[in-house]
Amino acid sequence: MARGYSFDLSGRTVLVTGASSGIGRHGALSLAACGANLVLGARRVALLDEVRAEIEALGARAIAVSMDVTDEASTMAAYDAAEAAFGEVGGVVANAGISGGGNALHVSSDAFDQLVAVNLRGAFLTVREGARRMIAAGSARRGHGRIVIVSSITAHHVSAGMAAYSATKAAVAQMARVMARDWSAKGINVNVLCPGYIRTELTEQMWDTPYGENLLGSFPRRRIMSVGALDPMLLYLCSDASAEVTGSVFTIDDGQTL
Ligand code: NAD
Repeated sequence: MARGYSFDLSGRTVLVTGASSGIGRHGALSLAACGANLVLGARRVALLDEVRAEIEALGARAIAVSMDVTDEASTMAAYDAAEAAFGEVGGVVANAGISGGGNALHVSSDAFDQLVAVNLRGAFLTVREGARRMIAAGSARRGHGRIVIVSSITAHHVSAGMAAYSATKAAVAQMARVMARDWSAKGINVNVLCPGYIRTELTEQMWDTPYGENLLGSFPRRRIMSVGALDPMLLYLCSDASAEVTGSVFTIDDGQTL
């Protein structure tokens, strides 16, 4: 359920990748509940249309755009559609991602390449194009550009059997910090969200396996985090309130890594 926290995002347009399910879907609804216009990007447009309808029912505006984050042309076309609908895109949430577990001994090179293509190259293309558009729209003068990359606790916490996935998540976190430095004078803030384990399509298969049961048993609170736990930080990082926050990496994990 999307809740409107006290961040006013009216007039701001935010593009969210991977908005068809899980964290991206929920985050998009929460951003809309704070008044933002939403650009919903993913490959499954029928699902995005459902999210768009929910956003419109909240009284906010949204468009659904077919977007494969691994494809440069598709990424650029999504921003073209966003600008045609709403004008300037002031916020980007690079959230699209895939998982790929397994001891590295058994991870194929194809599976590794696919993880890198979506989680790293996809985030790079999404964020680079977003920053280019923000700069062209005058972000340096107004200081309102907001970029959030969704990484993971696996970027810094050792999660057994997650070598390839963790590598992509550590890579995007460090990429974001360098981008934050490079674009600091361009009025663009780049921050990183490292969620703990949340029940979504990405993890759904895991919890009924011995691996998942062990993992859950290792969490101090013995529970999977709710997707809404990310809302306050996500909304903050997309708002004017975070004007002096850039290059920061935030872990929100219900203490799972303690
Ligand atoms: P999810 O599977 O529900 O959502 C992933 C989204 O990314 C989907 O909308 C999917 O369609 C989209 N996507 C995948 N490949 C794409 C592509 N090539 N182009 C465009 N969109 C694509 O899973 P989620 O848990 O909501 O994951 C969202 C992000 O959060 C991912 O980056 C994931 O690594 C990260 N994350 C998830 C958890 C968790 O426990 N669920 C924890 C930490 C980080």
